[in-house]
Amino acid sequence: MSSRTCAKPGCNSTATATLTYDYGERTALVEALHTEAHPMRYDLCGPHASGLRVPRGWARHDRRVRYPAALSHAVAS
Ligand SMILES: [Zn+2]
Repeated sequence: MSSRTCAKPGCNSTATATLTYDYGERTALVEALHTEAHPMRYDLCGPHASGLRVPRGWARHDRRVRYPAALSHAVAS
């Protein structure tokens, strides 16, 4: 595994998440780090992925999150 670093300027932390912007859906998707870099995706460290802000009207989906069992009925899928 090649080491990739956070895309945020001035941040040299190891990337642990991949950010993808879906302009059609106005969604910023945060996922576990993709195995391959992609020019349309951004690698982010954990803190920067968690602290990501999206433009007004956009949604942010963090698929790294594992919901607690207590909430499992709300995410039946
Ligand atoms: Zn960072």
